[in-house]
Amino acid sequence: MNKKKRIVVKVGTSTLTHDTGAINLKRLEALVRVLADLMNMGMEVVLVSSGAIGVGVGKLGLSEKPADTRQKQALAAIGQASLVAIYEKFFKEYGYNTGQVLLTKFVLDHETRYESAKNAFETMIGYGVIPIVNENDVISTYEIEFGDNDTLSAYVAKLVDADLLVILSDIDGFYDGNPAQKDAKLIEVVEEITEEIRACAGGEGTRRGTGGMRTKLNAAELVGEVGIDMIIANGNTPELLYDVIDGKQVGTLFKGKRQ
Ligand code: ADP
Repeated sequence: MNKKKRIVVKVGTSTLTHDTGAINLKRLEALVRVLADLMNMGMEVVLVSSGAIGVGVGKLGLSEKPADTRQKQALAAIGQASLVAIYEKFFKEYGYNTGQVLLTKFVLDHETRYESAKNAFETMIGYGVIPIVNENDVISTYEIEFGDNDTLSAYVAKLVDADLLVILSDIDGFYDGNPAQKDAKLIEVVEEITEEIRACAGGEGTRRGTGGMRTKLNAAELVGEVGIDMIIANGNTPELLYDVIDGKQVGTLFKGKRQ
């Protein structure tokens, strides 16, 4: 895995927010420091970040994330600008600029728009800027939305032709059963996403998260088809990204098809 140069890192709401729903600044700052350091090492980084609704919840002092789509869309708008402002502040401290990219699935389904998005990413990366990507929740309706940022991160990894997709979650990796139960074991390498593997993914994720492991398996399948490896690892310790880059065993590796 030593030759990986361009990585897409996706970080989930459960990693980025406290139980209160407000943003976890310590975690976010630690992540930014590591990503900036990877850039210093000559890597190219694209960040797909959830957390906008969570930041909105924190800003308005709501007791929990609402289930209603309209409220969620409003909260995403309220939180998104603040989320990116926080990233911008931390990345600036380490000498890097960021660019915000809000995508919807129909952008990537349309050839000209796909090319525009691709060119914008390439140009930003060329400038040494870190693109920070999220779904454009405000204009996304049910049909056109990615549904979750795991799937979005897979589309982005394909779009930028990444060498690796890393999904940071609140858990060490993919387990062979419900991780809340003691006997569930971490699977280190998944060669192929079989029915047996799918059966290991429980239902919804955490209260603040979204898709759980099912959407992460879909993401692995999407990137795997074009030969991109994917790793699920624990975002509580973003320093483990150094080991990922060194090719050490971290979390769960989903092997992309060898072309
Ligand atoms: P994120 O916000 O990082 O996307 P989610 O809450 O959506 O996080 O998904 C992570 C959660 O998925 C874990 O905390 C765990 O409760 C749940 N989960 C369900 N099945 C599995 C499994 N087989 N292995 C690991 N985690 C699982």
